[in-house]
Amino acid sequence: MTKTEEFRILGRRAGDAESIRFEYRGVAFDQECFHVFAGLNAVDTKEFTEQTFKALKEAGQVCSRMGAYKPRTSPYSFQGYGKKVLPYVFELAGKYGIRVIAMEVTHESQVDEIRGALRATGNPTGVMLQIGTRNTQNFELLKLVGKQQEFPVLIKRGFGITLDESLNAAEYLASEGNRKVVFGLRGMKTNMGDPHRNFVDFSHVPVVKRLTRMPVCIDPSHSVGTRAVAPDGILDIFHVVAQGVVAGANMVLVDFHPDPAKALVDGPQALLLSELSHFLDDVALARETYVKRASLAASHRPH
Ligand code: PEP
Ligand code: MN
Repeated sequence: MTKTEEFRILGRRAGDAESIRFEYRGVAFDQECFHVFAGLNAVDTKEFTEQTFKALKEAGQVCSRMGAYKPRTSPYSFQGYGKKVLPYVFELAGKYGIRVIAMEVTHESQVDEIRGALRATGNPTGVMLQIGTRNTQNFELLKLVGKQQEFPVLIKRGFGITLDESLNAAEYLASEGNRKVVFGLRGMKTNMGDPHRNFVDFSHVPVVKRLTRMPVCIDPSHSVGTRAVAPDGILDIFHVVAQGVVAGANMVLVDFHPDPAKALVDGPQALLLSELSHFLDDVALARETYVKRASLAASHRPH
């Protein structure tokens, strides 16, 4: 069986080459779209949440990321505040015009908690359920998240499995009925990527767009993992975002924090809110280059 036959619903093949397309809370997703989801890796305080949403609104952003449930390597590490922070996260998102929040879930009960908190607060915003790299092959979770159609899903590539295995994981969601799926690259676990936290895999943006019909997201924060700066004065995180965006990425999921030293999770990889406008301007340059590259390629295509 060829790979594209294996991905029966999400695969790209002759006669079935149309991008997956969906709209959620007025935001459109497909293989041509482009959105930035900047925000807190883990929700810690109401103040930091509000400062983040406020900065995003001022920068014209309508999407964000917020972690309430955190799968951690050590059982002794902070596990996320869970459902108790959801009401203020959703209310503040509504207050600042944030329409879609990417939020990881590790268990079915958390989907119910999110649904319940959204209803209780009057649905002021929307949630894109995130399946983290550690749960890419949690097939029972995939089936449950795939069965519901209320929330779109961002599934991260598994950090220690083949691309093929991760694409099959995404296919689980679609096979259960949910085709509102975005595929996320976030780097692979190997020491070959040192000194980055993971080995950046954004060269696979065009590969995933060719093998499947899913929009593709890149997560530079978990890929690079540090605020290291190149001799040109540009952070490695900015550099890899540009590389992924120039290659056609449709979404960027990125950690920001008002005061990274106080962040409870992944502070060392967080960008500062004061860097947000520089970041967005840099991203816009890369996106503009991609759009120009795509039309250049179209003009050279044999008729
Ligand atoms: C995250 O985005 O907060 C996260 C934990 O990502 P990953 O699953 O890629 O490690
Ligand atoms: Mn993390």
